[in-house]
Amino acid sequence: MAKTYDAIVIGAGVNGCSIAYNLARRGLKTLILDKGEVCSQASGQNGGGVRQSARDPREMPLAMYSVKLFENLSEELGLNVEYKQGGNLRLCVTPAQEESMRAAVDKQSQAFGLPVEYLDNEAVREINPYVSDIVLGASYCPTDGHANPMLVTYAFLRKARSLGAELRTGETVREIRLSKRHVSGVVTDKDTYSSKIVVNAAGIGGRKVANMVGLDFPMTPVFTEILVTEAREPLFPQMIGTAASDFYGHQTEHGSFVWGGFIGYDTFLYDDRGKSERRPNYPEVAPAICRAVLRFFPFLQDVNVTRIWSGLIAQVADKVPVLGPVSDVPGYVSATGFSGHGFGISPAVGRVISQAALGETPDVDISAFASDRFRPVN
Ligand SMILES: Cc1cc2nc3c(=O)[nH]c(=O)nc-3n(C[C@H](O)[C@H](O)[C@H](O)COP(=O)(O)OP(=O)(O)OC[C@H]3O[C@@H](n4cnc5c(N)ncnc54)[C@H](O)[C@@H]3O)c2cc1C
Repeated sequence: MAKTYDAIVIGAGVNGCSIAYNLARRGLKTLILDKGEVCSQASGQNGGGVRQSARDPREMPLAMYSVKLFENLSEELGLNVEYKQGGNLRLCVTPAQEESMRAAVDKQSQAFGLPVEYLDNEAVREINPYVSDIVLGASYCPTDGHANPMLVTYAFLRKARSLGAELRTGETVREIRLSKRHVSGVVTDKDTYSSKIVVNAAGIGGRKVANMVGLDFPMTPVFTEILVTEAREPLFPQMIGTAASDFYGHQTEHGSFVWGGFIGYDTFLYDDRGKSERRPNYPEVAPAICRAVLRFFPFLQDVNVTRIWSGLIAQVADKVPVLGPVSDVPGYVSATGFSGHGFGISPAVGRVISQAALGETPDVDISAFASDRFRPVN
């Protein structure tokens, strides 16, 4: 007979583990299934940014709620997740960038009450004396920050398990069973499980999982790379980005710098797009990230790169996730398609998705992320 759970979460990334933790703390007997290992995809590959500034306006309330949850997360989960609220600087190098950054800053502070301001070169240097002369100014949001993605994921998982959640890795979900359109369980390559709630937190696998219940939305894997340097003494606490998205990154608690970026045609280097989950490293990308970083932080030229890796972003056509229940398929709940910024909102995603799965009104309105915002043309 199939083992029975109150809820099954497909995917043991940061969002799946956050959702499982929140379901378990609400008393649900919860099973997490992952075809690989915990953190084996984007949650183990990302840059750790916890950012509200420059968010899509639809995501801003979720991002601001998440920062509130991050402030107490280490204590709540009983593990130091290396959360540092060191602010975020988005650097500008041309007058045109300055002009649009000032407008964006005004919009974000007026529409959402986000503490964000525009700093000129001198003010930027006061909080980060290492930026080069090319920087004219930057947006600055003091409540943005960063955390350690692996620690956050494991902290959610550990707490979920302490509340009774179970984890099975190396097990691929192949089918979601329906009974009169209502979810009734899942079939994996190893076993069958019954549950009236199934959460799709499958990252880049999320589209395939949605297809299992007859749903679809435009999502594709996008290739990106990150490098990490040898450690230096603590130099600056901010998360760094640029107006032209040349690169992004920060200095970790251990002293190494983590820098990520694109060369613009990375997705086309990745010629298996959508067909496999291969993650090669291309010789063009890390040097391009280094060149971009050194334009802004020349003092880093003697700091060696120790490791590079790549990852796949689950990119939805309109660059925000697909979240929430679907009225056509009761019991199915989506939490996928985070489009390259799903780590920073993971504490909030756990809260709102568990509430939505239980039929409650979520703390933050997620209706803008509904799966049915995409409809086939005919
Ligand atoms: C290089 C890089 C840098 C990034 N930087 C940042 C950043 O600075 N800040 C930020 O907020 N976000 C960042 N992101 C995005 C962030 O990493 C993701 O949005 C987030 O980790 C998604 O977590 P998840 O739990 O939804 O999915 P994942 O971590 O991708 O987990 C999905 C899991 O589902 C499993 N799975 C898939 N299909 C099945 C199946 N059929 N059966 C069983 N299991 C299945 C997979 O094995 C996987 O473990 C970055 C991403 C990348 C790649």
